[in-house]
Amino acid sequence: MKEILSMENITYSYPSEDENTRTAVEGVSFAVNDGEWIAIVGHNGSGKSTLAKLMIGLIFPDAGDVHVFTEKLTAESIWDTRSKMGIVFQNPDNQFVGSTVQDDVAFALENNGVPFEEMVTRVHESLAQVNMAEFLNHEPHHLSGGQKQRVAIAGALAMKPNLLIMDEATSMLDPQGRDEVIQIVQELQKKTGLTVVSITHDLEEALLADRIIVMNKGQIFTTGTPKQLFTNGKELEEIGLDLPFAMKVSDLLRKLGIELQGEHMTEEELVNELWTSHFSK
Ligand code: ADP
Ligand code: MG
Repeated sequence: MKEILSMENITYSYPSEDENTRTAVEGVSFAVNDGEWIAIVGHNGSGKSTLAKLMIGLIFPDAGDVHVFTEKLTAESIWDTRSKMGIVFQNPDNQFVGSTVQDDVAFALENNGVPFEEMVTRVHESLAQVNMAEFLNHEPHHLSGGQKQRVAIAGALAMKPNLLIMDEATSMLDPQGRDEVIQIVQELQKKTGLTVVSITHDLEEALLADRIIVMNKGQIFTTGTPKQLFTNGKELEEIGLDLPFAMKVSDLLRKLGIELQGEHMTEEELVNELWTSHFSK
């Protein structure tokens, strides 16, 4: 399997006067393979955004190496490397640079000297990929949060990235906006084999990933497939994570003496078991 990104024993502390400040990220190692969807979860201050900044070379590690597309990330390599990464941040309103949706999506293309014809094609294609083609000439501030984030994703896609990094890209959205964005990313990953690193504190969203990395106090607490992790749900609750709804309900039902067979990560799984083993005769 081809490695798209690797973090090797990364440690980083923000420059600070205070000697007691904790290291933001300490001894973190993991790799992301081509086509994978990795979720990085953890409560506030666990080091997730610091990892994102290290991945895109906004900051460089005090110790350890970051490799992106097998190339070591350095102050020299960063510009070339970053043009192959799509990056979407938390606040939909801070991402806009254009006065219309199409200007916005074209921005990075223009900066990278993509010829006009090619630019027009790519803007149309990437807006179509996020179901926003009919908003070409709309002004960004009239869009909903979910639509804004989809445009931000289109802007990233227009550069034909090999890797999409999202830092809490859905956390400021209402449930509908969140669903829109997650669905689009899911489709893209399936259809185009895009590699996705999604940072989120929402475990429901992390369930969709191939693999989850759980951060706690700047270190990797645990890592595994959603199934592997959520069989140890208690541990995750102990470090301040909010378990998916269906798992909390399963727990309560067990406490009430209702026997359940397996673990239920999604509402669908839970409803299926309740229906087949408790309500049908
Ligand atoms: P998360 O994204 O998981 O909430 P962060 O990576 O933002 O966590 O923060 C990790 C730690 O680094 C926290 O203790 C935070 O206070 C500290 N930190 C984050 N950004 C800065 C900064 N710009 N300057 C100093 N400390 C920071
Ligand atoms: Mg953060």
